[in-house]
Amino acid sequence: MATKLLLTFAICRLIVTVGLTLDPTELLLLGVDAQLSVDPTDVKAASLDFGLLTGAQPPLAVMHPASSQDVAKLVKAAYGSNFGFTVSARGHGHSINGQAQTTNGVVVQMSGSKGGSGMASGRKPPHPRVWPQERFVDVWGGELWIDVLRSTLQHGLAPKSWTDYLYLSVGGTLSNAGISGQAFNHGPQIRNVHELDVVTGKGELLTCSEEQNSEMFHAVLGGLGQFGIITRARISLEPAPQRVRWIRVLYSNFSTFTRDQEYLISLHEQPASQKFDYVEGFVIVDEGLINNWRSSFFSPHNPVKISSLEPNGGVLYCLEIAKNYHESIPSTIDQEVESLLKKLNFIPASVFTTDLPYVDFLDRVHKAELKLRSKGLWEVPHPWLNLFVPKSRIADFDKGVFKGILGNKTSGPILIYPMNKNKWDHRSSAVTPDEDVFYLVALLRSALDNGEETHSLEYLTNQNRQILRFCDEAGITVKQYLPHYTTHQEWVDHFGNKWERFYRLKMEFDPRHILASGQQIFTPTN
Ligand code: FAD
Repeated sequence: MATKLLLTFAICRLIVTVGLTLDPTELLLLGVDAQLSVDPTDVKAASLDFGLLTGAQPPLAVMHPASSQDVAKLVKAAYGSNFGFTVSARGHGHSINGQAQTTNGVVVQMSGSKGGSGMASGRKPPHPRVWPQERFVDVWGGELWIDVLRSTLQHGLAPKSWTDYLYLSVGGTLSNAGISGQAFNHGPQIRNVHELDVVTGKGELLTCSEEQNSEMFHAVLGGLGQFGIITRARISLEPAPQRVRWIRVLYSNFSTFTRDQEYLISLHEQPASQKFDYVEGFVIVDEGLINNWRSSFFSPHNPVKISSLEPNGGVLYCLEIAKNYHESIPSTIDQEVESLLKKLNFIPASVFTTDLPYVDFLDRVHKAELKLRSKGLWEVPHPWLNLFVPKSRIADFDKGVFKGILGNKTSGPILIYPMNKNKWDHRSSAVTPDEDVFYLVALLRSALDNGEETHSLEYLTNQNRQILRFCDEAGITVKQYLPHYTTHQEWVDHFGNKWERFYRLKMEFDPRHILASGQQIFTPTN
């Protein structure tokens, strides 16, 4: 009864807000009443994201789906209704610029529905289903990667390609790419998917793969939520390692650093024993080793005296590498790591090594999150900027940005690592530079209201603009990862030669522009 009242309220709000006529029976007939919520807590949660940059964008209602059919019914209603309200899937809301939000419609809360207030009926999304023989797992689109890992580990298996942080949803990362230090070897997460169930912008439920509805399959991967809502993904698995040898080494010379990174990723075709499983790196332009939220690794056992390393131009570079192994063969791991390290040219006294369980390695950023939360430093604005920089211009980027624009204050980690383009599927919607090797440069900064100008949101936002302007003027053809643009022309430029197909498929699968309007690529048609 209570849910019926809630639904009626939600419908009235839809009608009043949109100011157009909608027959309430239209939504009542959907049979989704147990999942639609206008509970202020739900609406508020769906109106914010990790970036905290856009201000609250409250949706008209929030849906807690228990199945693909629930999602399909809602989207079908939006598609068929007279005024066409929007529908945005929201995973864990870890976007920066409101990409999972919508003000004129319903947010489908894909993650966390298991205990959500809309679950009064007791219906829940399906749990992960592991297929040990076939080495894949079927997961609900809102499943968090941490939960995917926990399920597959019960069978001694794990996904191959990761993000640095696991409290992100499968649908959310597959809508972008999903990258981390394994991408040079296994490709991004979008390269490690066999099959998807997707609800299109017409409310149709399609299964797609390389063989079936392949255009839809490739479009959805990296498709920024524009073509459909992923309700199930079939993800490729490998035998799970037990432990990880995790190593950091420092460089003061940028070209030596990038030469070593590029050498390590060029080993991707070598047997597992002759390459690292993970290659990343980061830039240290200030006292970052101590203040950086990725740096707990260096202390307290490995105190670093930066001044003793005499950085060239005040900037240091940290190569971060890891090798997975099974406890039964620890002696081989020592030799394998040693022979790989011998080929690198880091500062000799700067090797920091630790050894930990595989799960702890994958879940490392969550530990930093808990620390920051306890200090009130997690729920702050995050003016993040993620760029793919072509290998041929990374040295220019170093000179202009790391040693130039940034000054000596960073306000957060700056990641830098290369990837092999041939590990990406050019048919996906994801956009990367036009070179065989390109770098991710991730400026993951937090804005603080502590009176220091260089920590302020305005300062950091201006600096991001300055970086983009610098690239533009220097002719460095970067591509934004987790892109954020506000004009049509910027989106056309971003997609480049993929735009035509992107547009055509949008018209085919979401002709009323109902889905993921928070990306600001297409304007919903009424
Ligand atoms: P949301 O923010 O909820 O949604 C993102 C977009 O995807 C929206 O447009 C939404 O409508 C759409 N969407 C969500 N679910 C679905 C679905 N089921 N079907 C279709 N569309 C959907 N990225 C990396 O690649 N590597 C990293 O190492 C990494 N680390 C991160 C660490 C932190 C702390 C944070 C905050 C982000 C990180 N990211 C990383 C970025 C992250 O992958 C993206 O922001 C991702 O979109 C977040 O997932 P989410 O579930 O929170 O998505």
